[in-house]
Amino acid sequence: MITWNTAMIMVLSRLLRSTNQRFRLTRWAPLTRGAVTILLLLFLLLLLPLALAQGKVYVVEKNDTLSEIARANNISTRALARANGLEDTDLLLPGQRLRIPQRTTDYTVQKGDSLATIAEKHGVSVEALVEINDLNNPDKIRVGQKLAIPGASVARRYVVKKGDFLSEIARRYHVPIRRLARYNGLEQPDKLNIGQTLFIPKGKRNRPKIPSLRSGVRQSLEQIRVKPERWKYIVIHHTAKRMGTPEGIDYYHRHERHMEHGFAYHFLIGNGNGMRDGSIFVSHRWRRQIHGGHLASHRLNNISIGIALIGNFTEHNPTPKQMRSLAALTHYLIEKCHIRPADLQSHREINPEPTRCPGDHFSMGGLMSRLGYE
Ligand SMILES: [Zn+2]
Repeated sequence: MITWNTAMIMVLSRLLRSTNQRFRLTRWAPLTRGAVTILLLLFLLLLLPLALAQGKVYVVEKNDTLSEIARANNISTRALARANGLEDTDLLLPGQRLRIPQRTTDYTVQKGDSLATIAEKHGVSVEALVEINDLNNPDKIRVGQKLAIPGASVARRYVVKKGDFLSEIARRYHVPIRRLARYNGLEQPDKLNIGQTLFIPKGKRNRPKIPSLRSGVRQSLEQIRVKPERWKYIVIHHTAKRMGTPEGIDYYHRHERHMEHGFAYHFLIGNGNGMRDGSIFVSHRWRRQIHGGHLASHRLNNISIGIALIGNFTEHNPTPKQMRSLAALTHYLIEKCHIRPADLQSHREINPEPTRCPGDHFSMGGLMSRLGYE
């Protein structure tokens, strides 16, 4: 924002000079000049935070909505709301100032791309991509789809010139040649085309930012002793019902499914219907470190942590807050129980009998990439 500040200073100094001239002949001149200077300085102080904020500022007009302003600026409503500390659904007041986040670059999805490779190519996190593009199913991107790439941290580009060698470019940018080749998906690193664009990776690998557990949940989990090697798998389920509570599920499992220990999972994540959206319920099975009842195999039940999300994902998507909590919880459990990422599975993947659980709208790949495994 240097240019903005410089412009402000130029305008101010010109104003000061003109007030000097205008008041030169009156006896009140020194007083007035002082007052004008102070007013101008105050004005500058008021404007400075706006100037320092990123991006441009939009002043809300009557009947404006967040989504319209977002559309007009080619950004998502969520990104706009987030940049201003608002909720997507907040009402706007005329005269309210909104910060418009910097427009990002566009990227067209190519064959063979995954969100993870696109993120790496541009030096941004998978999570940032998911967020700015409002993606519900991060592993369902299609060739030709346009994605916005957050602007601030775009990887450097290098356009190949005549006589260039990869080894020399790698040396110039202090990147190991193999990394540069892999980064750009080059199968024959000795064959560069003039005009070809290479992406230069940043020094530090950009791991996705994994959401962390709310401190209350983390604290209560920390009080539960878990024996090393106790658990081998984490298995994800949906409840196949749009609405649910731990009590309701416990009743069903205890009295209708006749399970001795009732509630068959170790954890339940709410969707806002019956339980707060994204909240994590820790069941007595986890507190007592006993087997689950969520799989059609006694052996697997004994070594598998069961996490259920309220919802019917054969019909609708999990909520973003549910996915965030699920990522935080699985990340915590993987580290705490030393579970291999490959042993994080869906009910459908691990069950000896066919099941649709957790439904086609649940994206296992999306969870894996949120955790940085893909
Ligand atoms: Zn299931």
